[in-house]
Amino acid sequence: MTLRLSRITAATAALLLSMGATPLWAANGADGTTDEATAQKAAREAAAEMRQLRQQERQRNNIYKVWFPDQATARKAAISYHHALLESKYDAGYLILELESEEYAALQAQGFRLETAHDFIKRRNEFLDRFDKAADENRKSGGNGDVGVESIPGYSCYETVEETFAAAQAFATSKPNLAQWIDAGNSWQKNTGSGGYDMRVLKLTNTAIGGTKPKLFVTSAIHAREYTTAPLSLEFARWLINGYGVNADATWMLDHHEIHLMLHTNPDGRKKAEGGLSWRKNTNTAYCGANSNSRGADLNRNFTYGWNSTNGQGSSGNVCNETYRGPSAHSEPETQAVESYIGSIFADNRGPNQGDPAPANTMGVHLDIHSYSQLVLWPWGTTNTPAPNGTALQTMGRRLAWFNGYTPEQSIGLYPTDGTSDGPSYGDRGVAAFTIELGSSFFESCTTYNNTTKPKNLPALIYAARVARAPYQLPAGPDVTTLSLNDGTGVPAGTPVTVTASITDTRFNNSNGTESTQAINAAEAYIDTPPWSPGATAIALSAADGSFNSTTEGITGTLNTTNLANGKHLVFVRGKDASGAFGPVSAVFVNIGPGTPPVTETEPNNTIAAANPIAAPVTLTGTMLNNSDSDFFRVDLPAGGTLTSTLTPNSSSDYDLYVYDSTGTLLGKSERSSGLVDTVSVTNSSGSTAQRFVKVLYYGGQTGAGGTYSLQLSW
Ligand SMILES: [Zn+2]
Repeated sequence: MTLRLSRITAATAALLLSMGATPLWAANGADGTTDEATAQKAAREAAAEMRQLRQQERQRNNIYKVWFPDQATARKAAISYHHALLESKYDAGYLILELESEEYAALQAQGFRLETAHDFIKRRNEFLDRFDKAADENRKSGGNGDVGVESIPGYSCYETVEETFAAAQAFATSKPNLAQWIDAGNSWQKNTGSGGYDMRVLKLTNTAIGGTKPKLFVTSAIHAREYTTAPLSLEFARWLINGYGVNADATWMLDHHEIHLMLHTNPDGRKKAEGGLSWRKNTNTAYCGANSNSRGADLNRNFTYGWNSTNGQGSSGNVCNETYRGPSAHSEPETQAVESYIGSIFADNRGPNQGDPAPANTMGVHLDIHSYSQLVLWPWGTTNTPAPNGTALQTMGRRLAWFNGYTPEQSIGLYPTDGTSDGPSYGDRGVAAFTIELGSSFFESCTTYNNTTKPKNLPALIYAARVARAPYQLPAGPDVTTLSLNDGTGVPAGTPVTVTASITDTRFNNSNGTESTQAINAAEAYIDTPPWSPGATAIALSAADGSFNSTTEGITGTLNTTNLANGKHLVFVRGKDASGAFGPVSAVFVNIGPGTPPVTETEPNNTIAAANPIAAPVTLTGTMLNNSDSDFFRVDLPAGGTLTSTLTPNSSSDYDLYVYDSTGTLLGKSERSSGLVDTVSVTNSSGSTAQRFVKVLYYGGQTGAGGTYSLQLSW
């Protein structure tokens, strides 16, 4: 890891001068170029800045255990004091907050009891010590003393900015038809030539399928220290990409929807947090002093819509405050990048007035992922008045909260928040916007993240992608909770396939008000063409118990596969409730191909020219008519494909196996003795489909009625 000279900020330079360090430029060439030694020196000095900032952090002891009067008030406090929140312990009855004196007084007046959080401060200091120690070890082993670049000490499950970007780039490189890694602007440091990062978006969709697709946009880690947020978004990308062609839901979501992930919405600040600091804002040195670890603007108070709109209650004008809103709306390049990206993917669906609703069929969802309050929140955050789409937002919020078990509520806390990230999406354009507050602690262990936070929240993200086509309508409809086929693997076309599912309207989190539910009154399946596409054909499914009359119904039906080509097909299933609301689709694969009854060799096929064509992977049966018989089979092997041929003779015969190309050149053979299985694999390394000819040859043993073999051909 080397750092460029430009990474060093004026702040660092001033700091280093004050520490008696040799200024960088003294070692720099007259033409301004940097050499390896200079770059290493810059890296050492950046590491020294981080050590100095960690020392500043140790001085921050205004951290309190805040005992709340009741759970509802605690959640509102967690919203209003999100900037101060370091842990939420709802079950134990307290929050850990880092508070200014006026905030301390305000909470006391609200009925909260406060005491210094000695335990937390001790853990925090141990945490900081670990980074200093790792930095020492790095330097002793010949490094620059930087830490948190390749991994976060003790938190290896949280990818760093570099690791996250490398993973996203790898998706775009290996799956260019599914993933694009888009440059959406610059971070503040990049803009000012002091290191920094591009503001990147990982766009996931199958580009082979065109048309206007619903979009899910996810921003994560806008607050730098919220470790779990970007790794969760990256995990979501893995689920989609690795699931394509394997998991039917991941496949149709990439075919028919777009998922846009701004994995790091505040990469400069994130680098500070990855060095052990409890960093929230961006790193803009113009605010609060270039050397301060309280510097920067709160990007989640800097958005244009509603910026500074609540008389100073919902954001701060104090440059050192954790909710400093910036000197003007969207003053920060990170905020500008988010706003312009949202403008590039979402149309304006809402009128100019605060009370204008977006149409019920508005497409698209924006999720902003934070931690650590265990909440699912929706607009408005500026006022107690519900948003004009508030009822539908609440319905979807309660569905999302069903998955993670968090509390769903409007994002108004004890006080308002303004200039937040849902402004450009919901406020300006009417796009359904939610903030999900993951987990409970800055120190969330990898065990907790892997066993709880990730498995609870990944399904919520998948649900958001599922309903992105109509987020104000589909969450009111039921979910398909189990879906299977009696035989989805390799059934011959024409074989009826039985579909079984459970459909339920009950998956709401009712911890904060109760969502009404209805009986399921219809269910239907579609093969290949989903219900929203032209030419879609519904196949009616039945209630397994004979009548649609319950909020959760077992469903069954039969699929006619007569006209399906060999290969994988998507089967979409959805249900409708008694209010007339359809829910989102779930899907499963049916794989059409020759299975049983077996394909039988047809004579004569003694030459390449007379070979039996084989259209799909199969295990066929053949017969050696006499001791001069040979049987040829033709496979059209796709570019890059590997054909594996497995020949099993009858137990008392010796037949052998050969594979040729179309010119008769032998590509592979197996000549094992009587009764033994022969196997040959050949790969088509050309750039296009190529014919391969598999020959079964009589060598010894039985012929005629007793001269049977089976030949498995797979590719
Ligand atoms: Zn946050």
